[in-house]
Amino acid sequence: EWDSVKVTLRGEIGDAAYRSWLRPITLRDVRDGVVRLGLPTRFMRDWVATHYGERIKSLWGAENPAIRSIEIVVGNATRPPTDSPTPCAPADMDELGAQLDTRYTFNNFVVDKTNEFAYAAARRVAEAETVSFNPLFLYGGVGLSKTHLMHAIAWHIREHNPSRRVLYLSAEKFMYRFIRALRSQDTMSFKEQVRSVDVLMVDDVQFIAGKEATQKEFFHTLETMIDQGRQVVISADKPPPDLRGIKDRLRSRLNSGLVASIQATTYELRLSILAFKAEQMGATVPQKVMEFLAHKIASNVRELEGALNRVVAHAQLVGRAITLETTQEVLHNLLKASDRRITIEEIQKRVAEHFNIKLAEMSSARRSRQVARPRQIAMYLAKQLTSRSLPEIGRKFGGRAPTTVMHAVKKVEELKGADQNFAEDVELLRRMLQS
Ligand code: ADP
Ligand code: MG
Repeated sequence: EWDSVKVTLRGEIGDAAYRSWLRPITLRDVRDGVVRLGLPTRFMRDWVATHYGERIKSLWGAENPAIRSIEIVVGNATRPPTDSPTPCAPADMDELGAQLDTRYTFNNFVVDKTNEFAYAAARRVAEAETVSFNPLFLYGGVGLSKTHLMHAIAWHIREHNPSRRVLYLSAEKFMYRFIRALRSQDTMSFKEQVRSVDVLMVDDVQFIAGKEATQKEFFHTLETMIDQGRQVVISADKPPPDLRGIKDRLRSRLNSGLVASIQATTYELRLSILAFKAEQMGATVPQKVMEFLAHKIASNVRELEGALNRVVAHAQLVGRAITLETTQEVLHNLLKASDRRITIEEIQKRVAEHFNIKLAEMSSARRSRQVARPRQIAMYLAKQLTSRSLPEIGRKFGGRAPTTVMHAVKKVEELKGADQNFAEDVELLRRMLQS
């Protein structure tokens, strides 16, 4: 059935859109009249659900009248039906909390003056038997180790103090679960689950900017936890006073414990991180190569790691030692890209293709989300990848005001910070443009 639905849809929407959106779909299961489809990112799921959801449902219904609804979920694994026993049933907490990355430990953290305060505060919270600073508020830009430190706290407590219950989740997940609980009129068990832990960690709270109901719930959660002497750790991209769209009382609550910043990396820190990672990988990386990388990739540690991984993987594959030349070669595209001039037209074209909208929508006045979001992403990329000014960019997008461009850039940054899948999607576009 799925195959024939796909064939029909492909005919309807064309090959390009089919490749981008429908081919990645996996059929997970069909049970009790409900079809479950999986997509690798949340962003794709939302896109497919809004653009093709109804159509898939009606085509499927035509094939098989027993089908009542289509559910599109994130993740591609085919899951065993839920009524069969799961081999290792996850505890409740694991379900609400996020998976912890095994690499994000204190041992794997490189300390220098830009992050020593945050590091020390995180260690203190992890080692203390009871609450220390409450809440601990960590802030810093993208890729500067906020998540790493929070996971490190959780790992440390799990290892040394397993009876303390730790819950780590993103603010986005907090909101999502809260709203789901509201909808099913079951906020009690949500509150219960969140508030019963000893250490609550919520990552990227800037995400709940403007979300009033969630903020209210979050505020009361904080109050309760802190009153009861339970530890709370929060992260965000800015210090509490600078968080926009967050209610005053919540902001001041967030500001009331210990606020620790993680500053932009220095050249020295990037070098140390590279040396550390190279050693962990058991790779011999010449000093010159590390200096080159630390110099070229200054913005974000994640990208720096990615570059190192590529260089090491390349050397291992071809069985040659890493040299400055091979490094330059491997990163050729990446580096060339930053020299090459990318035009706004190119960006608009790529982004429009990617989202399967008309190029004309880039300068149209339409504000529906299907076109507004891709347009914002294009404006963001134009700001990032070209040296054009805001007014120049605005003009290319149908004569929009510079403030509109600014708003788009902020919006995309905010979404990127809050939603890893969205960030990956934008990152993918950026790479495509730069290669
Ligand atoms: P954030 O949550 O602030 O966006 P992450 O914690 O996800 O950033 O960090 C991005 C990547 O960089 C992770 O792989 C992390 O391990 C690594 N990283 C960042 N800073 C350091 C550091 N000081 N030492 C070791 N790894 C680091
Ligand atoms: Mg993070």
